[in-house]
Amino acid sequence: MFNLILFGPPGSGKGTQSEKLIAKYGLKHLSTGDLLRSEIAQQTPLGIEAKKIMDKGQLVPDEVVIGMISSSLDANPDAKGFLFDGFPRTAAQAEALDKLLKLKKTEIKVMLALEVGEEELVRRLLKRGETSSRSDDTNETVIRARIAVYHSKTTAVAEYYKSFDKAVYLKGEGTVDEIFERISAEIDTRL
Ligand code: ADP
Repeated sequence: MFNLILFGPPGSGKGTQSEKLIAKYGLKHLSTGDLLRSEIAQQTPLGIEAKKIMDKGQLVPDEVVIGMISSSLDANPDAKGFLFDGFPRTAAQAEALDKLLKLKKTEIKVMLALEVGEEELVRRLLKRGETSSRSDDTNETVIRARIAVYHSKTTAVAEYYKSFDKAVYLKGEGTVDEIFERISAEIDTRL
């Protein structure tokens, strides 16, 4: 199994690159943001609670997202590998993920982090907010709060994978295809 984490701040292009990567490498895409938005669309109790938190730019509780990931792993026993997008976002989530994968006798191969400057992130997210139905992309204060949460909580995730020598940083600016080439090159050396 080949399991990878696509990491980076909101607006760094994880969703865009994930679509191309799953097509090229046949991985199963697991995005906690997408899973949460699906709960919101179905108006489940979990979705209704999560939306309040997401609209403030804060993180949904660890146990909620860990539970969703655990169910998704169980629901895909034949996957060739998983591409984690937007998860793990805290050190506790990273540790929980390691345990879940260990139970399945597999592990994270690499964490690829996309680096993009803050002003470029805000510009991209506001642009996405003009056309997407995502309420968290229309307000600059919420966008900056999400970037701040990324720096305060999520950077610890990168440190975690660095300690296992599994963190790789890539430039997330340029054309979509250029970035895709950079990511693919890193994956190809590890397949
Ligand atoms: P972005 O990376 O643009 O912020 P996501 O779709 O990954 O977009 O996430 C949207 C929101 O969903 C986050 O701001 C957060 O509130 C919630 N969320 C997504 N993944 C997680 C997670 N792993 N842990 C906690 N909250 C999460």
